[in-house]
Amino acid sequence: MSVDFEAGVPSASSDTFAVTNPATGQPFAYAPSSSAEHLDAVVQAAHDAFPDWSRDEDFRRSALGKASAALAGAAQQLAVTLSKEQGKPIREAVLEIHTGAHWLNYFAQIEDAPQVIQDDDSAHVEVLRRPLGPVAAITPWNFPIALSLWKIAPALRAGNTVVVKPSPFTPLTTLAMADVLSGVFPPGVLSVITGEDPLGSRLASHPLVRKISFTGSTATGKKVAALAAEDLKRVTLELGGNDAAIVLPDADVSTVAPRLFGSALANNGQICVAVKRTYVHESMYSQMIDALAECARGVVLGAGDAEGTTHGPLNNAMQLDRVSELVDDAVRSGAQVVSGGKRWGTEGYFYEPTILANVSDGTRVVDEEQFGPVMPVIPYRTVDEAIARANASHYGLGSSIWSADVTAAQQLAPRLEAGTTWVNSHTIVTPGQPFGGAKWSGLGVEGGHWGLHSFSEPHVVYTAR
Ligand code: NAD
Repeated sequence: MSVDFEAGVPSASSDTFAVTNPATGQPFAYAPSSSAEHLDAVVQAAHDAFPDWSRDEDFRRSALGKASAALAGAAQQLAVTLSKEQGKPIREAVLEIHTGAHWLNYFAQIEDAPQVIQDDDSAHVEVLRRPLGPVAAITPWNFPIALSLWKIAPALRAGNTVVVKPSPFTPLTTLAMADVLSGVFPPGVLSVITGEDPLGSRLASHPLVRKISFTGSTATGKKVAALAAEDLKRVTLELGGNDAAIVLPDADVSTVAPRLFGSALANNGQICVAVKRTYVHESMYSQMIDALAECARGVVLGAGDAEGTTHGPLNNAMQLDRVSELVDDAVRSGAQVVSGGKRWGTEGYFYEPTILANVSDGTRVVDEEQFGPVMPVIPYRTVDEAIARANASHYGLGSSIWSADVTAAQQLAPRLEAGTTWVNSHTIVTPGQPFGGAKWSGLGVEGGHWGLHSFSEPHVVYTAR
């Protein structure tokens, strides 16, 4: 199904839903709303395409390489739509498309030979990998292209076919990506269906779907896990986070502050692994607050396509309300707003970059995932205390330790309950890393051989001698 995005067609009807530009708060296009019959037809096509697609690994590798080139070639064009529906600056939208192309290329290149685990007088035992069938890839609105390709690339390489369902807030770029890649993959191998949230559960419970790869909130992830259980579908869940950053007393404030700020405010804080709670040693607390406020003053808010914009709007009205509510609640509990603290402008979903001091655990903005441009900065006395407070969360996605003594920081890292602990950085993910969350932040991982293998199952061939 293809859509003329700029003209905003197909026009509003019961078969479409509106897509809003978060910089204006106004709908600018309509996306197709897949019916139950259309969903059935798409999943059936994925099922029918599976046998041929799963058979020829060289063809798959070559197709992924071509897809990577095609996507990179369309980056500028797709970025315009991505910026308009998601809100991010065009420059970052271009980067996101290239990130997706990089993932496709990585999984085109990765070596994954069968493993011989025994070869002696009694037996030859080899472990093959068998793909699963049609995979449902359900994605959120913060990085619609990159996060869909974190699933598509390994799933296709492993020999599965894929049906993607993007968030109803950002369906257009994923549809446009499918158009760009339509000449690369045989029919049925990669499809995109769009619709509002109930389409996600209909896809996840479709009997021909054999795996659900889901990225989104923890609340929805739990529902997806329950749907998967009914049919024992395989499932990977990449869910919410409330990442703590711990700044040790020896860290250099002027070096660390801009990096911390960038790790918290990139994509307006709408990153699952953004820094969401910052624990700073009491000896440097006031200098750090001042340095972070200075960074906040450098932010230029604006529409993604406006000259000079460093940060766009939040993606949707619900997110703006949530961020406002959490900051207002913190202020009522005694937090000091060092910078920002309110909505910006009257149009669209902009919120000022916000630094909160005199705030602590037990306040909602610290305990919950805020997913917005807000940095609660919390003083601590001892490292043991900071680690205990960082771990006192249902979430366990990312975390970081900032120090002039890299070895000391590396030795503390295993004590943090998280899928990834960065030292002197945060948010950096490469395609070879097993990316995932501890506790309520997820189930399973994406990336590298770990992620690739989550789209297949071991198949042992035991030959007796
Ligand atoms: P969400 O859970 O509301 O929606 C995610 C996707 O699930 C959307 O496509 C939605 O339409 C679909 N969906 C909704 N209800 C469904 C159901 N019952 N069954 C199946 N699908 C359903 O999440 P969101 O608001 O789009 O995204 C923000 C959240 O995603 C944040 O919590 C963020 O931390 C998380 N996230 C996690 C990662 C990660 O890798 N761990 C990455 C990005 C975002």
